[in-house]
Amino acid sequence: MPRYDFRCRSCGATFELRRPMAQANDPAVCPQGHGDTVKLLSTVAVTGGAAAAPQAPTGGGGGGGCCGGGCCG
Ligand SMILES: [Zn+2]
Repeated sequence: MPRYDFRCRSCGATFELRRPMAQANDPAVCPQGHGDTVKLLSTVAVTGGAAAAPQAPTGGGGGGGCCGGGCCG
């Protein structure tokens, strides 16, 4: 679950909450009970997505070499 950093504009405290991404923009309440908070930009490492797709090796050299087809002889 991603972690979000918030800062309270009433008392200046910073705190973090773990919440689902669906509730990322929901208002957060300061531990002191203040409701005037802002969400800080944090570097959350989100894993997943299609960053690297598996690539099948093409061409020769990958087993079943050319000698099997008689091209070498
Ligand atoms: Zn506060």
